[in-house]
Amino acid sequence: MFIDLATSTRKELDACDVAIVGAGAAGITLALELEKSGLSVAILEGGQGAWTELSQNRYQGEVSTSEGFSYPALDRWRLRYFGGTTNHWVGWCRRLEENVFTQRSNGLGEGWPFQRSDLEPDYQRAMELCTLGRDLFDAETLTTEADLPVLVKATDVLATPVWRFPKQLRFASYYRSRLSKSPVKIYFGANCMGFTFEDKTSSPRASLVHIKNENGLDFELSAKCFVLAGGGIENVRQLLIAAQSQKQINRSGNLGLGFLEHPHGAVGAVLCGDHTPEDLDGVIGYPKDIDGTQFKVGVGLSEEVSAERGMMNTSFTLEPLQTIPREALHGDAIQSLWQSTQPAALGGTGSQVIGIYARTEQRWNSASRVSLISAKDDLGAVRARLDWRVLAQDVADIRTSLGLVGGELLKAGFGPMTLGDPISFQTMEGGGHHLGGARMHLSADQGVVNENSQCHGVDNLYAVGGSSFPTAGFSNPTLTIVALAVRLARTLQERM
Ligand SMILES: Cc1cc2nc3c(=O)[nH]c(=O)nc-3n(C[C@H](O)[C@H](O)[C@H](O)COP(=O)(O)OP(=O)(O)OC[C@H]3O[C@@H](n4cnc5c(N)ncnc54)[C@H](O)[C@@H]3O)c2cc1C
Repeated sequence: MFIDLATSTRKELDACDVAIVGAGAAGITLALELEKSGLSVAILEGGQGAWTELSQNRYQGEVSTSEGFSYPALDRWRLRYFGGTTNHWVGWCRRLEENVFTQRSNGLGEGWPFQRSDLEPDYQRAMELCTLGRDLFDAETLTTEADLPVLVKATDVLATPVWRFPKQLRFASYYRSRLSKSPVKIYFGANCMGFTFEDKTSSPRASLVHIKNENGLDFELSAKCFVLAGGGIENVRQLLIAAQSQKQINRSGNLGLGFLEHPHGAVGAVLCGDHTPEDLDGVIGYPKDIDGTQFKVGVGLSEEVSAERGMMNTSFTLEPLQTIPREALHGDAIQSLWQSTQPAALGGTGSQVIGIYARTEQRWNSASRVSLISAKDDLGAVRARLDWRVLAQDVADIRTSLGLVGGELLKAGFGPMTLGDPISFQTMEGGGHHLGGARMHLSADQGVVNENSQCHGVDNLYAVGGSSFPTAGFSNPTLTIVALAVRLARTLQERM
């Protein structure tokens, strides 16, 4: 059921078992998974049922990036109303790569406190909640069943990652009607302002969440447990604020550190070679699976090759050249590409050109971080600052893997590949994926949340979503965020 806090006069809201902050992908998933659990559940959603400028402005903050990369303002890539950022996400979905969960060399980290197979039941449920159709991610089978030629095949070197796209893209419109009849109370205009902690000997607990409505009036809600599901940057902002009064939350000293994105961008172009434009649908298009959902086949290095070379995971998709901005190709490259696309009479080969778009991993580094600044929003809450940093080693890995993938494409009958600006990949930005900053680790000395998304040091405070990713691979994160929320719903039912 939906309740607008603007119309509520009672300062104390009905106490509940589980209080969730945020109704985006993670918060909605928790609500759906807990609605039949017998637990009383409330969601505090800072925005309304639809976009408002007042709520959106509360997402403003500061941003800086590594040289050569760009990042939009903090209120551009997050949406602050029911459904959250899924109101404009694009729907690329796949599980995180398996090696991301394991210990890797060369600065790639310890992985997660559990293996991907441990998350498998939650991934399967997440597939259903995200309406992704059948659980099939094999490029060759999908392409063949869609009656398209298979132009790229997985080899020892080349991987062919697949993304699937939801039948129902918008969480808000798909789940609104069900949640309007649900026993879960969803408060709109309920801005989380912080927590009161009871410091009982060695295991402190949160007892109250403080709320301000749209007009700045104060409310409070007591609950047996509290879950932050406000999106990657907001979770970290809330935890940084909470850590000012409850020091255990940042016992590791790592809170805010290790913000991760998926560097994205046009990085080059490749000639069609032996392939005719009609053949290309399976690789540059977004074909329909036999169950009606769309999929996309990419190319990248196999996990074995990445491991041998100590390289992070990278993936590339082939896209029509029009989608590749001119700056992605440096001067000489443009000339030679243009020349080869000319008819033979003019000295060219008449070949078609395909753009190459990168979606990659980055290494954890402490200079990449979310912090608090002194500027406040209209409700008096301090704003966040994001310093997104990508290591030179990460950029080098993108370049190396692009070269190796280019070699494999040549063997598969494509023409030569031309790389973009070899120095900085100037057109790269993030993917709108706000990950890390409150990393998951078994040890309270190294991580902020444990394997169940519970904050180390505070028994009944959880932070679920991208903020907990210790490593992020290249796969778009929302399917994993939904799986983590499913896992948390199970944990809460077992614990309460
Ligand atoms: C342009 C774009 C395209 C994307 N495309 C993809 C894609 O193709 N595939 C993919 O996997 N991911 C994609 N993403 C990322 C995806 O949108 C996020 O991973 C996902 O929305 C995160 O879910 P969440 O629930 O953690 O956060 P959100 O969806 O952002 O939800 C957070 C909720 O918390 C609320 N909130 C925030 N602060 C407070 C507060 N103080 N008090 C109360 N409520 C609060 C917000 O209003 C919001 O409803 C894309 C992102 C962008 C920007």
